[in-house]
Amino acid sequence: MTFRDALPEAVDVVVIGAGVIGIATAWFLNTRGVSVLVCEKGRVAGEQSSRNWGWIRQQGRDAAELPIVIDSINSWSSIGAEIGADVGFTRQGVLDLAENEAELERHAKWLDVAKQHQLDTRLLTGSEVDRLITDKPGQWVGGLYTPSDGRAEPFVAVPAIARAAQRLGAKIREDCAVRTIDVQAGRVAGVVTEHGRVNAQSVVCAAGAWSSLMLGNLGVDLPQLTVRATVARTVKAPDVFAGNASAGGFAFRRRADGGYTVAAYGENEHLVGADSFRYFRKFLPSLFANRKTLRLRFGDGLWSRMTPTRRWGAEDITPFEINRVLNPAPSARALAKMRAGLARRLPSLAGIEFEEAWAGMIDVTPDVVPVMDAIDGYPGLFLATGFSGHGFGIGLGAGRIMADLVQGRPSAHDLTRFRFSRFSDGSRIVPGPGL
Ligand SMILES: Cc1cc2nc3c(=O)[nH]c(=O)nc-3n(C[C@H](O)[C@H](O)[C@H](O)COP(=O)(O)OP(=O)(O)OC[C@H]3O[C@@H](n4cnc5c(N)ncnc54)[C@H](O)[C@@H]3O)c2cc1C
Repeated sequence: MTFRDALPEAVDVVVIGAGVIGIATAWFLNTRGVSVLVCEKGRVAGEQSSRNWGWIRQQGRDAAELPIVIDSINSWSSIGAEIGADVGFTRQGVLDLAENEAELERHAKWLDVAKQHQLDTRLLTGSEVDRLITDKPGQWVGGLYTPSDGRAEPFVAVPAIARAAQRLGAKIREDCAVRTIDVQAGRVAGVVTEHGRVNAQSVVCAAGAWSSLMLGNLGVDLPQLTVRATVARTVKAPDVFAGNASAGGFAFRRRADGGYTVAAYGENEHLVGADSFRYFRKFLPSLFANRKTLRLRFGDGLWSRMTPTRRWGAEDITPFEINRVLNPAPSARALAKMRAGLARRLPSLAGIEFEEAWAGMIDVTPDVVPVMDAIDGYPGLFLATGFSGHGFGIGLGAGRIMADLVQGRPSAHDLTRFRFSRFSDGSRIVPGPGL
């Protein structure tokens, strides 16, 4: 089944963007009998939602996200059976390793949050770590471990949920950019896509890194920036650890295909552009908090980033059609750091071939936690974006929240931290734990 459904004249809800958030929102709405169209300018899960590490973690999260991600993990554990497809979900834990006592102490600070939510998180000793990670024993003093954390295969999972939603009646259309959100008589009336108009009572903007641009054209200001992150996939490899681990300068997780997904810390790059200056003050606290790990880059198309197209009409070719799939080049520095990390820390993976390397553009909010809210002044318009490097794991929980918001049902979660107005009502920006 492909994602090329004909555009209906009218649906209850249009979702902009077929990443994990848009697809999960469509899935939950659909299971409740709401008619949905998902418009995707490029490919289902073509951007962040297929390029991520596949970690489904509670460990290290902002406290306000925890109840949602706990709910999300439960959904991840049952979704395969519900949709009749293997999404690669397994709970093999997240382990943040420490090579010295100071690092272990830093990790241990999160134990209080874990305790408040009755998580199975605990501190491991060096010898406990050695029993889990079989390569090169004796190099770790310990680690923070949450056995109930999990993983799934992003590139498989999101299209599989999309196909299941389609079977239930959702319409999904790739190569279909939403150009404008149509507002009539003070409320949302539908969208205009590059292939025509669709009427709808509600529109959910789940446009990932494009959300600020999309809403900006409507006159709604969303502070959002992007960060380039590089990932690699190894060939089939010896089994050194079954879960997800961060080890000093790099991170790795076992894949369902027998290889490892590998990434480097401290190599995330922000490509400076007009929005960097525009939102500088709002991002200052999180820039400061991440000053040691974030790199600023000025080259690679600086001029076009300084002069973005910000306004257009429904008849115009939009930036969404000009750039169908954000596909940044992987960073050679990051790849070199991953290879060095593997060689130093996991000798049995030293020199292993990277079968594929890629990069993704992470969309980030000033406080590094998402927005899940209705947009004031635009009845019928909802926003789910800014998942800031950890939206895959929480994606199913976020989808259920958005379905509740659209249907006017009370949410099972406290959404105060995720309200849109926090960026404009003078609230102090309090950065979450990071990407
Ligand atoms: C390298 C990397 C590693 C990561 N690792 C993890 C991890 O291990 N665990 C975790 O939980 N999270 C991780 N993340 C974060 C996670 O991938 C994202 O938070 C999540 O995928 C965001 O989903 P989304 O649906 O909001 O956005 P996206 O997946 O980016 O989807 C948005 C979609 O909207 C479409 N779109 C935009 N504008 C329009 C328009 N006008 N019309 C139609 N379509 C439009 C885009 O084409 C895109 O497909 C990682 C991200 C990256 C890049």
